[in-house]
Amino acid sequence: MAKATILTVDDDPAVSQAITRDLRSRYGADYRIVRATSGAEALTVLTDLALRARPVALIASDQRMPEMTGVEFLEQARRHAPDAKLVLLTAYADTDVAIKAINDIGLDYYLLKPWDPPAERLYPVLDDLLGDWRDAHLDTDGGVRVVGHRWSERSHEVKTFLARNHVPYVWFDVEHDDEARRLQELAGAVAADLPLVLVPEGQTLRAPSTRELADALGLRTTAEQPLYDLCIVGAGPAGLAAAVYGASEGLRTVVVEREAPGGQAGQSAAIENYLGFPKGLSGADLTHRAVAQARRFGAEMVLARDVVGFETRGPVRAVCFGDGLEVEARAVLVATGVSYRMLDAAGLADLTGRGVYYGATASEASQCEGDDVYVVGAANSAGQATLNLARFARRVVLLVRSDSLEKSMSSYIVERIRAADNIDVRVRTEVVAGRGDDHLEAITLADRATGTEEEVPTNWLFVFIGASPRTDWLGGDVVRDEKGFVVTGPDLLARSGVRWPLPRAPYVLETSVPGVFAAGDVRLDSMKRVASAVGEGAMSVYLVHRYLATI
Ligand SMILES: Cc1cc2nc3c(=O)[nH]c(=O)nc-3n(C[C@H](O)[C@H](O)[C@H](O)COP(=O)(O)OP(=O)(O)OC[C@H]3O[C@@H](n4cnc5c(N)ncnc54)[C@H](O)[C@@H]3O)c2cc1C
Repeated sequence: MAKATILTVDDDPAVSQAITRDLRSRYGADYRIVRATSGAEALTVLTDLALRARPVALIASDQRMPEMTGVEFLEQARRHAPDAKLVLLTAYADTDVAIKAINDIGLDYYLLKPWDPPAERLYPVLDDLLGDWRDAHLDTDGGVRVVGHRWSERSHEVKTFLARNHVPYVWFDVEHDDEARRLQELAGAVAADLPLVLVPEGQTLRAPSTRELADALGLRTTAEQPLYDLCIVGAGPAGLAAAVYGASEGLRTVVVEREAPGGQAGQSAAIENYLGFPKGLSGADLTHRAVAQARRFGAEMVLARDVVGFETRGPVRAVCFGDGLEVEARAVLVATGVSYRMLDAAGLADLTGRGVYYGATASEASQCEGDDVYVVGAANSAGQATLNLARFARRVVLLVRSDSLEKSMSSYIVERIRAADNIDVRVRTEVVAGRGDDHLEAITLADRATGTEEEVPTNWLFVFIGASPRTDWLGGDVVRDEKGFVVTGPDLLARSGVRWPLPRAPYVLETSVPGVFAAGDVRLDSMKRVASAVGEGAMSVYLVHRYLATI
C-alpha cells in the first residue's frame, strides 16, 4: 500500500525547510513528507490526495500565516483528511488560541516554536501521534487475514481479539468478497472451518479457539516461572497499573488476562477525564501504552487464560486455569473488574455476537457504515458508544429506560448527542424482544409512556446496561457482598461473621485472605473510573510490599 503522507504548512521558507528536513530525517522511510507554503496550496494538495484515496497521517501547520491562520486551515483540512492528526506550530503568545482549538476543531497537539533539539521536543510528540494513527489504521496494512461470515459469533470474537491485542488484520467476508471465496477454496475449508485465520509465514487456523490464536501469533499463554512475588488477575487499568508499579519496584510480577489487555477501558472510544490528556485518549491507546510500559519493566503477560479457581497453600497463593495449569505467587491481586449484564429480552440470547453486542469495539463501529443502529443504556459508556457509532451509521437510536438522559450521563456527552443530526434519543423505551434467523433482523420496542409496542428492522443492537463482577472463581474464603463485589480493608471488619486470622488489621485493599488484594471495579464501593482503578492498582503494590515484608 502507498505510504501515508505527512503535510507541513508554513509561509516562512526557512521554518518550512527546517521542519521538512527534520521530518524527513526521522520519518522519510515510512511516510511521504510533503510541504506547502500557504493554507490554500495545502488544501489543493489534500484535495488531490483525497481523490486518489491516499491516506494522510499528520498535518502540521504554522498558526501565523497571512491569508488564513493555522487554525482556520486545519479546520478546513479536517474535511479532506478526517483521520489525520493535527498539530499547530505556535508562538508562546498563541497558546490560548491553541488550547481553544483542542475543543473547537479537535486539534491533537500544539508545539511551541522553535522545537530544537527535535529529538527532545519534536520526535517524542510525533512518534506518539503517528503511533496512534498507525494503530487506528492497522487493517490497511495488516499481515494476518481473517476469512469468515460477517454474522458469525466466532468471526466477531476472533476480530475483537486481534483488534484488542493490536494485531493488524484484513477481514474477508465470504458472502461479499471474491477473494474470501478464493482463499476458502485454496484452503479446502468447509463452513465449519470458518473463520479461517491466515497467519503470515504460519499455519492456516480453522475456527481457532482464542488460545490457539494467541499461540499462533506468538502471544504468551503460559507463565514462565514456578513462583512469582505477585500474580495479578485481570489486565484492565487496575491490573496494568499494578503490573507497572510491581515490576518497576522489583517484584517478580505476572499478569493473567482471559481476553486482551485493556478491560472495559480498552473498549472506550474516548476517555476524556483521565488526568494529563486534555483532548482525551482512546482506550486502545491507553492500553497500548500501559502494556508497553509494563513489559518494559519486565512484567510477564499471560493472555487468553481464564482464571477459574483459587487456592491458599500456606504462604503461597495459587490461581488455577481451566486446563489444570496454574500460577503460584506469594501475593495475588484480584483486578477482574466487571462484565456487562445481559439484556433479558425474548430471542436475544441466541443472537449474541450476531447483531447483538455487549460493548462495542472500533471494528464493529466501522461495519455499521450506512445502517440503522440501536444502543441500549443511559450511562456514559452507552453515550460514548452512541457518538462513536454515529460516525459510521446512517442513524443511531439511543434507547433509555428512564425518562431522562441527563440523570445518568455526563453533560458533555449529552450535549454532543443532542447536537448530532443522526442520533435520536427515545426515553421510557425498552427492548422486549429480538428476532432473526442467521443474525439479528428486528427488535421489538416497548414505549412505557404509551404502553404500545412496535417492531423495527435493524441488524445492530449494542447493549450497555451496567455490569457485575464475576468472582465465583475466588471460592469460599475471599469474602464478597451479595452481588459478588470483593470486600476489602476496614469494610471487612465492619461486616458481621467475617473471620480475619491475623493480629494486625487488614490493609486497606486487602481481602479476607491475607496476601490477596483487590483493586478497581471488582472492589466493593470502588469509584468505577479509569483513574481510580489505576490509583488502586498502583497503591496495591505498596501494600503487597508491606505484606511480603511480614512473611
Ligand atoms: C465503554 C466504556 C467506556 C468507559 N469510559 C470511561 C471514561 O471515559 N472514563 C472513566 O474514568 N471510566 C470509563 N469507563 C469505566 C472504566 O473503563 C472502568 O472503571 C475501568 O476499566 C475499571 O478497570 P478495572 O481494571 O478495575 O477493570 P476492567 O477494566 O473491567 O478489567 C478487568 C479485566 O479482567 C479480566 N478478567 C476478568 N475475569 C477474569 C478471569 N477470571 N481470568 C482472567 N482475566 C479476567 C477482564 O477480561 C478484563 O480485561 C468506561 C467503561 C466502559 C465499558
